[in-house]
Amino acid sequence: MNNNDSFEAVIGLEVHSQLLTKTKMFCPCPNVFGMEPNTAVCPVCLALPGALPVINFEGVKLAVKAALALNIDINRKSLFARKNYFYPDLPKGYQISQYLDPVSSNGYLNIQTGGGEKKIRINRLHIEEDAGKLIHIGNQSYVDLNRAGTPLVEIVSEPDINSASEAAAYLKALRETLVYLGVSDGNMEEGSFRCDANVSVRRKGDPRLGTRAEVKNVNSFKFVEKAIEYEIERQIDVVLSGGKVIQETRLYDSKENITRPMRGKEDAHDYRYFEEPDLPPLILSEEFISEVKNSLTELPAVKRGRYVSEYKLTEYDAEVLTQDKDIAHYFEDLIKENGGRVGIKKLANWIINELLSELKAREGEGRSPIKAQDFLELITAVESGSINRNTGKTVLAEMLSSRKKAGEVIKEKNLAQVSDDKGIEEIIKQAIDENRKEFADLISGKDKLFGFFVGEAMKKTKGKANPKKVNEILQKNIENYKSGRS
Ligand SMILES: [Zn+2]
Repeated sequence: MNNNDSFEAVIGLEVHSQLLTKTKMFCPCPNVFGMEPNTAVCPVCLALPGALPVINFEGVKLAVKAALALNIDINRKSLFARKNYFYPDLPKGYQISQYLDPVSSNGYLNIQTGGGEKKIRINRLHIEEDAGKLIHIGNQSYVDLNRAGTPLVEIVSEPDINSASEAAAYLKALRETLVYLGVSDGNMEEGSFRCDANVSVRRKGDPRLGTRAEVKNVNSFKFVEKAIEYEIERQIDVVLSGGKVIQETRLYDSKENITRPMRGKEDAHDYRYFEEPDLPPLILSEEFISEVKNSLTELPAVKRGRYVSEYKLTEYDAEVLTQDKDIAHYFEDLIKENGGRVGIKKLANWIINELLSELKAREGEGRSPIKAQDFLELITAVESGSINRNTGKTVLAEMLSSRKKAGEVIKEKNLAQVSDDKGIEEIIKQAIDENRKEFADLISGKDKLFGFFVGEAMKKTKGKANPKKVNEILQKNIENYKSGRS
């Protein structure tokens, strides 16, 4: 391994994302994951003779939506093409894709890097269909064609990425955008969002591009970063030892953290592309494009900016709240329900510090099962002092497991806070009586014992005493005692 600063990596990413349509791209079969093998199939996706494809307009709509969000120009006329290759999971012997005239080209996505914002240009976004799937068990191979014909977009970046961490930032921003739009579920593990990386290295200042190797189908963000890191170092080692990087496709082995050669890389001419004779050109009207444009929701980066400027949140808070579309919407619902009673920063803190950590502890619950309105009831109970913050946490946990409302939990468990001065006064007197020596020490200057008495009072009320009141009344008792004595 080396860390040679005289080299620079040049990386381009090809991302395939399945589209969240109800049906496949060119036939009416359901587009779902996890069905019994070979049950979501028909003559079109099985490639039976004479069956003809029909364009799914829902798929086109989602592709155009993604392209608009990625600042990619929509081409009013585009063509479908056949990409020919032979593989057991591809019954037609070709994939319907787009080649010379894609549905959209020339866009960009801004990413956050250590050195600030960076613009990564996007060469194109085109529509295609997925292949089926091979499953290998022991020495047998099985083919499942449920996935054959699933709508995909392929998004090809320009080679503007210069490190593994930039690649990860690009992927993260891209995935976030597609998930926000409802275009993709972004699931890398299930393969609905996949990434191939073209990696090459060159000496800094050299305008020529080095020979690239393609690293295929890495199935998590962490592995994409590791695979690219490994590949950059491998290529630098090859060049430094006087060898030549060869153009090939490599597979990443996550167990050993290395890439291995898989096959020589095909060039475009190996696919013998030609225009798909069974489909007409795809013509998009201005009306259709502006309709899709109007349906675009606020994107995460815009949301983050708005949270900072409009709600005065920190960049960090805005980042956490917008990471997940559902959480962002939940936060906005909470603001609406609240109508200005509780400060927005406080609402944000309740989600970030309490709700999200509770949800995280209950694995698999990405979205809050508590209605915004009910969560606000709990927040108001704490902020108005009718229960204290720690009790609030207990109530939240109980609400999440029993689905009861805050008021019910507080009443049932008798959790309402002891706030009346008399009640607290009595409890403090009791604590002093029971701990005369400690109280004398406190009076004579052992300030640390203040906390001890607060603790005693909280214990006696099972944590229900209003801590602010306990502090005030204890302080008053100390002062009374001191002035009485002097
Ligand atoms: Zn079908």
